[in-house]
Amino acid sequence: MNRNQVLPQVQLSAEPAALKKVDFCAPQPYKGAGFLSISDLPRVLEEASSVNPGDGFDWQIETHFEDSPGSEPRQILQLGLHGRLHVICQRCLQDCAINLDDQRRFVLVQTEAAADDYPIEDEDQEPLVISQHFNLLETMEDEVLLSLPLIPKHPEGFCEPHATIFGIEDEEEGSEERENPFNVLKNMKKNS
Ligand SMILES: [Zn+2]
Repeated sequence: MNRNQVLPQVQLSAEPAALKKVDFCAPQPYKGAGFLSISDLPRVLEEASSVNPGDGFDWQIETHFEDSPGSEPRQILQLGLHGRLHVICQRCLQDCAINLDDQRRFVLVQTEAAADDYPIEDEDQEPLVISQHFNLLETMEDEVLLSLPLIPKHPEGFCEPHATIFGIEDEEEGSEERENPFNVLKNMKKNS
């Protein structure tokens, strides 16, 4: 491909349905932006404790071709996700807003084999296997899910542990005195 060749940039539709089938095999750069509501992302909806006005994600996409020494120019995809959803706080068990501000960079590759060969130590960008019907919506949903904290909580000091969590802790302390497996193990070692 001639690097001086000016390729027309294709504007992506902001329609979630259209994002399910994007032809990334065409030698053209893409650009697009839009908003996804939580209900556009079924797997994210499953994680949400409630859906409030304003919840959802602004997204921006841009692809470009980058020279790669000794091989074809590489197609790079940059994805920005910015937004909010509500999940259950694991301290107080109430709704908790999680703000997301994510910038990711991908190298678009043609085959699974090329993705497998891609150096895993490259933390700046990940390979994505493209197709003529690439599901960009699914990629964005994956990114939202990957960005969620494992144990979502309000900021420190913002909330108090829920009463049932105290209850569980008390119960555990009580049973600890009776048969803490570590004490049992210690005793076994002592006796041997
Ligand atoms: Zn909380």
